[in-house]
Amino acid sequence: MKLDPQPSGTSKPTPSTRIETEVAVIGAGPGGSALAGFLRKRGHRVVVFDKDAFPRFHIGESLLPMSIPALDEIGLDLSREPYALKKPGALFLDEGSSGNLRINFAKALPGSFPHAYQVERQYFDHAVAQRAAALGADVRFQEEVHDWKEHADHVELTGSFGTCRAAIMVDASGQQALIGRRNRSVQQLERFGRCASFSTFAKVHSPTAREGVGEGDIVIFLCSKGWVWLIPLPGARVSVGLVEQKPVPGSTAEETLMGCIQGSDYLSRFFDGAERIAPFRRIANYSYYNLAPSSARTASVGDARAFLDPIFSSGVTIAVLTARLLAQEISAALGEKRALALEDYWRRCEVAYTTFDRLIERFYRPEWVRNVFFASGTEDRLVREFTSILAGDVWRDDNDIQQKFLKTKPRTGFGSEPAKAR
Ligand SMILES: Cc1cc2nc3c(=O)[nH]c(=O)nc-3n(C[C@H](O)[C@H](O)[C@H](O)COP(=O)(O)OP(=O)(O)OC[C@H]3O[C@@H](n4cnc5c(N)ncnc54)[C@H](O)[C@@H]3O)c2cc1C
Repeated sequence: MKLDPQPSGTSKPTPSTRIETEVAVIGAGPGGSALAGFLRKRGHRVVVFDKDAFPRFHIGESLLPMSIPALDEIGLDLSREPYALKKPGALFLDEGSSGNLRINFAKALPGSFPHAYQVERQYFDHAVAQRAAALGADVRFQEEVHDWKEHADHVELTGSFGTCRAAIMVDASGQQALIGRRNRSVQQLERFGRCASFSTFAKVHSPTAREGVGEGDIVIFLCSKGWVWLIPLPGARVSVGLVEQKPVPGSTAEETLMGCIQGSDYLSRFFDGAERIAPFRRIANYSYYNLAPSSARTASVGDARAFLDPIFSSGVTIAVLTARLLAQEISAALGEKRALALEDYWRRCEVAYTTFDRLIERFYRPEWVRNVFFASGTEDRLVREFTSILAGDVWRDDNDIQQKFLKTKPRTGFGSEPAKAR
């Protein structure tokens, strides 16, 4: 696969350039690039701006099954990509109670896709952007959007590229959440894991690692400090991160992560003989909803709309699936030469966000994990229902546990937490 920093056919204009297009997308992450690909498949003119040169590092390597057919629709077949490892399932382990549950995606409710992939995000994100470019999108790297002004029939963007006039603008800027920050409508979610310290190890060959991630599963390891992800990557490498509610004040990412690994019998055995190959990194306060995600001529998608929590690896999948839905809405608006009408679209999106929100909230309650989630292994129907949610197959009405989640109010949270501008 070609991994050059710019897709062929794109050029860097001088700052005085004036661009005219139907849709301008801010951000070439999986949300923005997938949206551009879906819009191109509907024949629309799209320009995508990303401030960074690709490939660039991004956390979040584990995909869910339902993203795979969607990515296939824009021509990305991950079974052929060297940076992707087949992911048949997820193994949940609890250090305290020794409880465990293995989710096998092939055993979801009928209709779910049977497996996913773990991906090195820098190459995956670049490949999605290259697919958008191959479909005809004008993808411009190292071009930052600085501002925009919405008019009755178009949006005027300004940035390092000059100016851009677009009928519709989409904010796919990830955690920058440009629309949300401007509207002061980003509401932090305080009730999930709030700080992740992470790195990557190579030469992960121990018997404990082979048993856990050897088939390509993600391992979610619950421990006294919070929970740990173990994501296998091609070439015996493993991405590892600890998610905590409150890190020890003044502690570094290295102290936090290594302290966790060295203090755990399971993780010490898992990484026995392995070598760290990436810097220690930390990211915090990443969970929020944007309560005003669109207007007549603008919309947000992916993390710019919301990011819940990394525990079920739902971020990229929700970004790609909602981008596909948004492309339909934008296409209809452009075809009828009208503004966006996104009420139904947001209702559909809410089904996905609310389903994961309710499951995540339960996962931060140890008694629920022990008494309901781990215990579901003995109930075939219930474990299939959990599996379908964890596959990202959330727009179906025959999943009883999901329907129950959708009816429950959170103990705290969406709609009930005080709004905080970020
Ligand atoms: C600790 C942690 C672990 C995670 N693990 C997983 C996981 O295992 N699986 C999973 O699916 N998800 C995971 N996620 C979430 C996942 O990474 C995101 O949901 C996903 O990247 C969202 O894609 P996006 O396209 O919306 O945003 P991004 O991928 O963040 O892309 C946004 C792009 O916008 C560009 N941009 C920003 N501002 C501007 C501007 N002004 N002008 C031009 N360009 C701009 C940025 O350069 C960036 O390339 C994790 C998140 C966290 C915090």
